[in-house]
Amino acid sequence: MSGFNMRPNHKPGNPFSIDPVCGMKVDANQPPVQWVFQGQEYHFCSDVCKQLFQREPQKYTKVDAG
Ligand SMILES: [Zn+2]
Repeated sequence: MSGFNMRPNHKPGNPFSIDPVCGMKVDANQPPVQWVFQGQEYHFCSDVCKQLFQREPQKYTKVDAG
């Protein structure tokens, strides 16, 4: 698995979010699936991606909280 190194681009007015699991663009205003994790809202293209994310959120967020 090569993995996706793309990070969500949280520019104001950005109409798209990046699905952290598959790297697909999703409509940020009307995301097919969304989930809030540690105060951050994540958007997914499908419920499958959300479930994968929920299983191993660290794998996709790589948040290095010191
Ligand atoms: Zn996806």
